[in-house]
Amino acid sequence: MQYLRGLKTSISSLSGVGPSAQKAYTELGITTFSELLLLSPRAWEDRSKIRPLGGIQDNETANTLVEVLSHTYFGMRNAKKRTLKIIVRDVSGEGDGRLSLLCFGRNFLEKTIRIGHIYYLYGSVNRHMGELQCSQFELVPATEDGDFPASFGKILPIYPLRGSLSQRLIRLNVSKVLSSVDCFEEELPASFRDRYHLMEMDEAIRIWHFPSSMEQHEQARTTLAFAELFYLQLVSRRRKGFGQRNLIQSPVVSTKLELRFIEMLPFSLTIDQITVLKEIRSDLDGDIPMNRLLQGDVGSGKTLVAWISALHVLSQGAQVAFMAPTELLARQHAESGAKLLAPLGIRMAFLTGSIKNKERKLLLKAIAEGEVDIVIGTHALFSKEVVFKNLRYVIIDEQHRFGVEQRLALMEKATVPDLLLMTATPIPRTLSLTVFGNLNVSTIKVMPPGRKPVITHLVNENNRKRMYQAVGVEFSRGHQAYFVYPRIDDSGESELRDVNNMFEFLKQEYPGISSALIHSKLDEEEKMTILNRYRLGELMYLVSTSVVEVGIDIPNATCMVIEHADRFGLSALHQLRGRVGRSELQSYSFLVFSEQLSDDAKQRLRVMKESNDGFYIAEQDLLIRGPGELTGTKQSGFLRLHYASLTEDLKLIELARKEADRILETDPGLITEENSLIREVLSKAPPFDDETSEVS
Ligand code: ADP
Ligand code: MG
Repeated sequence: MQYLRGLKTSISSLSGVGPSAQKAYTELGITTFSELLLLSPRAWEDRSKIRPLGGIQDNETANTLVEVLSHTYFGMRNAKKRTLKIIVRDVSGEGDGRLSLLCFGRNFLEKTIRIGHIYYLYGSVNRHMGELQCSQFELVPATEDGDFPASFGKILPIYPLRGSLSQRLIRLNVSKVLSSVDCFEEELPASFRDRYHLMEMDEAIRIWHFPSSMEQHEQARTTLAFAELFYLQLVSRRRKGFGQRNLIQSPVVSTKLELRFIEMLPFSLTIDQITVLKEIRSDLDGDIPMNRLLQGDVGSGKTLVAWISALHVLSQGAQVAFMAPTELLARQHAESGAKLLAPLGIRMAFLTGSIKNKERKLLLKAIAEGEVDIVIGTHALFSKEVVFKNLRYVIIDEQHRFGVEQRLALMEKATVPDLLLMTATPIPRTLSLTVFGNLNVSTIKVMPPGRKPVITHLVNENNRKRMYQAVGVEFSRGHQAYFVYPRIDDSGESELRDVNNMFEFLKQEYPGISSALIHSKLDEEEKMTILNRYRLGELMYLVSTSVVEVGIDIPNATCMVIEHADRFGLSALHQLRGRVGRSELQSYSFLVFSEQLSDDAKQRLRVMKESNDGFYIAEQDLLIRGPGELTGTKQSGFLRLHYASLTEDLKLIELARKEADRILETDPGLITEENSLIREVLSKAPPFDDETSEVS
């Protein structure tokens, strides 16, 4: 019996692993058997189904038996520069068809691939001038009675490669290591297996590399990811001295104030809003301070949840601070909050850097004396001069915009600081906090009813005419638009379109339609006035820099035009697009790009075109940017996850955490018989050592 992480034999003892392969393995971080088994394939190639040549489409993969009909040559007259073409015919019995195998640089195949013989073929097919062709293929002789060879019908792992490594060698090495272990030690208690439909460790480790169906593969992955997440959280929480929590909690009920507020709303809460409110309330009423991340896509209704949860503590005579990253957003929250909450007699105040002198003094005094219930503001809220009488609860909107220090400064003003962080962009840093820190996660997945996904058009620079027409049609329906540009003016030699010039240009394009310019150089009063006129419909469109990026909520706006879209990052694009599609109206976004696009920019635009889902977009962002940008010191632990995904496996993270909590609550020293298996894993082959759990 061996632990997955307990195999210390050097890979140099494997056949086929000489100095060059060893060096390449080292580049992948692999020196031992264990490390080799922990190497995750980046994909699996499913060869379990026959795909014959007949009826195959362009760019599809053939997976079948063929008979070699002839050898011919094409290209140069010169015999040395000719290329071999092998013509084959399907003999799998599942529909026929012919194919030309183009053997660039592989004329030697003439000797080994023999006419009249049967081979197993695997390769990606193109249609060229009516002929099916394939230049990247594998041919393996069929068995003696003309049947599929043993390599058919499998799902093959595709590993990341370095140097001289080949898929064949890694597969061989992995299966050799797997067969050298008679049975892998179990790492999860049997009760987990039943509860979460997991496999035994031994089975999961083997199937992960060589599954026989994709369903089986997913179950293996879940098992390994669960174990990984469970030990990660167990180790990190144990170090933090977790375990003194009071288990008995009274059932959490909404307060009268909350109920009155909810009754007043013109719509019902979504089921997810109700669920996350329950989670938040139970934290607010619990003995340990709340530390919770509320994530939900743009427009999913997080702000409303924040207000309702604020009412929950207000009825206990406490103060609430609500912090937003920009003055524009803070003001919008202050105004919409006042409209919603003032009728209930809640006293609200708005504090930012631009409120000065006497007005500021009065405001600070009122906060210090407890005459204000909810204070809304920017980072000005955490400056030294702001003193609260009884700050109980801190809500931070768009939390990824704030640094940790800013958050801590605000928390220090509170005696029992309950913290709610809100985000529409579950960036990896936030996610790693949820795993490494004690941050709990609530997620809003469903949108308020009636929302239609925003339709996204990618517009080539040269085709802008039709886009202007389409936006014009929306104006004629009484709907509004945003035009976003990356720059304020045309100073400097940049080629980019800027708001000043485009403002004039659009006036010509839409004569008689009212508009305004808005950018960061305007002062806050001016910005707010413009935004209010826009909200009232006095202005039909805004020409803007990305100041409208976060949080602005104007339901009647249905068009978002983003010029030089290739210049914006994915999360900025998603946030900008999130300014429309905030009502039952069909909305559109137009992403205008120029001819020369980098590969990354192309990918970003494609992701935007194909999805409206913020979680998916965040994951793609991570894939496109690559893990390189995450390798800050605090991120080191993040990269050590072999099986779990921090963006896809949120549910699993929660479940694994629950189990870790339960065990630490009842048996913090892991001394009971029941937990002996866990104790053994931690002492013999811990998936995460203490160094990793340092991360928080
Ligand atoms: P987020 O901050 O998550 O991007 P907001 O809180 O700004 O989203 O909400 C977006 C819009 O949806 C607001 O106009 C809000 O009033 C509205 N809204 C929130 N919850 C609901 C609901 N349950 N039904 C209908 N509309 C809702
Ligand atoms: Mg918001």
